[in-house]
Amino acid sequence: MNTLNGKKALVTGGSRGIGAAIALRLAQEGADVAVTYVQGEEAAREVVAKIESMGRRGVALRADLARADDAVSSVERAAQALGGLDVLVNNAGVGVLGPLGDISVTDVDRVLAVNVRAAFLASQAAAARMPHGGRIVTIGSCMAQRVPGPGGTLYALSKAALIGLTKALARELGDRGINATLVHPGPIDTDMNPADGPSAAAQSAMTSVGRYGAVEEVASMVAFLAGAEASYVTGTELAVDGGYAA
Ligand code: NDP
Repeated sequence: MNTLNGKKALVTGGSRGIGAAIALRLAQEGADVAVTYVQGEEAAREVVAKIESMGRRGVALRADLARADDAVSSVERAAQALGGLDVLVNNAGVGVLGPLGDISVTDVDRVLAVNVRAAFLASQAAAARMPHGGRIVTIGSCMAQRVPGPGGTLYALSKAALIGLTKALARELGDRGINATLVHPGPIDTDMNPADGPSAAAQSAMTSVGRYGAVEEVASMVAFLAGAEASYVTGTELAVDGGYAA
């Protein structure tokens, strides 16, 4: 425990779901943590209050990551508020699923802006100020590795792009001791994919363990990757998917 003492972290989309669990776990491990939100100000403030109750510094930043400026400035504001940045978790994401013919250009632009462009821009801004030992952990999806049926074209495209981002970041930043990794969650019980939703039974059946994952089961992997024990883990994908891709 307390493997991240003194570290400063930014978790995008840390107001709820997987991002909130990651923010709390990083704080539990000793990190000061900034979270971004776009609409959930109250939820983000509750996460910050919990971080502060652990004796750590917490900051909530409004940032609409569909906007390029916000993706960059969220990193700058987090580093300024915390006094530096050691860990970036690119977690914020949107899922637009549906038949190929129903996907509009607006959908394509929004999903690629939030899921891909923001991850690139935030990583670029973070890398510019990260010290040796820095970590960029990005949240992908099991859909980047295996698309089990129709309706996932745009979302799978956006998440698969993060594989290239992660590998190239590892090559770009390796000589500075900064590691880049990609975590692929399987079906995780959140607002985006509730465990009592219409396709939940089918998604559970696609895992080998036969159930949804909990947000904490993703957060524990991210905490490991953010810490010193993952010093030789970079440029790679890690599935936290209950066997979905097996
Ligand atoms: P939720 O929908 O529960 O939470 C999404 C988070 O992202 C919220 O904090 C939300 O902020 C933020 N967000 C959404 N749009 C924007 C935006 N335009 N700018 C900034 N922040 C934004 O999602 P999950 O927790 O389920 O997902 C987290 C990540 O995990 C995503 O990248 C998702 O693709 C991925 N994932 C999820 C899976 C699942 O089964 N749940 C499976 C595989 C991957 P706010 O509260 O302010 O709206």
